[in-house]
Amino acid sequence: METRTETIRIDEDEIYSSLSEGKRKEAEYIREILSKAKELSGLSMNEVAALMSISDPELLHELFSTAHYVKDTIYGKRLVLFAPLYVSNLCANECTYCAFRARNNAVKRRALTQEEIANEVRILEEQGHKRILLVAGEAYPQEGFNYILKSIETIYHTTSGPGEIRRINVNVAPLTLQEFKALKAAEIGTYQLFQETYHRETYSKVHVAGRKKDYDWRITAMDRAMEAGIDDVGIGVLFGLWDWRFEVLALMQHIKHLEDKFGVGPHTISVPRLEPATGSDIASQPPQPVSDIDFRKLVAILRLAVPYTGIIMSTRETAELRRETFALGVSQISAGSRTNPGGYAEDEAPDSSQFSLGDHRPLDEVIRDVASLGYIPSFCTACYRLGRTGMDFMDLAKPGDIKEHCDPNALSTFEEYLLDYASPETRAAGEQAIEKIISQMSEQAAARSRRMIIQVKQGRRDVFC
Ligand code: SAM
Ligand code: SF4
Repeated sequence: METRTETIRIDEDEIYSSLSEGKRKEAEYIREILSKAKELSGLSMNEVAALMSISDPELLHELFSTAHYVKDTIYGKRLVLFAPLYVSNLCANECTYCAFRARNNAVKRRALTQEEIANEVRILEEQGHKRILLVAGEAYPQEGFNYILKSIETIYHTTSGPGEIRRINVNVAPLTLQEFKALKAAEIGTYQLFQETYHRETYSKVHVAGRKKDYDWRITAMDRAMEAGIDDVGIGVLFGLWDWRFEVLALMQHIKHLEDKFGVGPHTISVPRLEPATGSDIASQPPQPVSDIDFRKLVAILRLAVPYTGIIMSTRETAELRRETFALGVSQISAGSRTNPGGYAEDEAPDSSQFSLGDHRPLDEVIRDVASLGYIPSFCTACYRLGRTGMDFMDLAKPGDIKEHCDPNALSTFEEYLLDYASPETRAAGEQAIEKIISQMSEQAAARSRRMIIQVKQGRRDVFC
């Protein structure tokens, strides 16, 4: 039996009292909160609750433009891109919203062999990806958790021409301290795990069998990960299971717990919304659906509440909604995704996918779109490679420093992409976008970017500062 860390208490009374306290606040108070948010030091639970109560269109507009300001000040124009790699859909749990749940006979089960994983990786590399999010259900083939460690090794060792994977983030079920240590030794980037819902009662209703029934084992996973030395962790909520307002405040309590205990909060927050899944009624009819407008609101509020934490948006959402949320605070997106094991080699297969996607566009098209909106598509992995993780990353994550380092790094990885993988149309649009972005940079950052881009054009790869 594993040693258990003391559980994290989500204080529901505090959440409900913040929610009732925050109701129908005066416009003047809301504006005070928005101007405090511009100082980039985050917000309290009561302030967040007050922002959640905004319904007046003018105030909503002010909320969105404040989020835009914060996003732009901290992250500049960068948007980091990654691809999920589903290695297996074997699962022993019964999460009522997921197609991979154990008793769902409508899904074909499959765990990729190491050769199949290498094949998927080559395809992603040939599209231009440098960052992979490894995903699996909670049951492994014969070799147990070693399967995941072997898969990581395979991914890092598979190359194709100039293509290589420089950072693997991992989204697998909660592990023991020893297993987390092994994951750290395998040199993963971020360990990602979503609590799904922080509301205990809802949690037990939707997790009806298997290890995942244990709310406490899951909520304490990030403590074990951090104790094992993984200091970039990614948390999240599956929106649609319970009231989004409750979930955002609970998320803030979880963040505060990590900050108090480890001195640093999560590296990223993911904001998946429930999507239809084969063999799941609840996935098509979320008990507490989040409307598009509330979804934008929640992204904007998170941006203000935890300004230095990355926000990840997956291809669950449509291209249109994804575009809008870039301005509100999203800093990382997946592109060209498949959610079925073997999906890149064999294409999308609804009978083995986890859920259906809202954005089906290939990477090249997403990149052209992102660049035409004035963002820099980035494949940068510099911080992780230079050991700037956890607290060190947060120390660097000050607006000035980020702009001096991250924007040039993003541009050099974007130039690599344009030279090695882009279609002629995307390359032309991309080169134009790069010129425009450099012309808006500080003199120092522009000079640094130009030097790095020249090196890439001369044939050097993986140029970062
Ligand atoms: N099996 C592990 C677990 O449950 O933590 C990790 C991988 S699981 C495939 C990744 C995430 O997919 C889950 O945490 C859940 O939030 C999300 N997910 C499951 N069903 C979904 C659905 N119908 N729509 C959107 N996201 C879903
Ligand atoms: Fe299994 Fe994860 Fe899907 Fe639950 S969400 S059924 S644990 S893959």
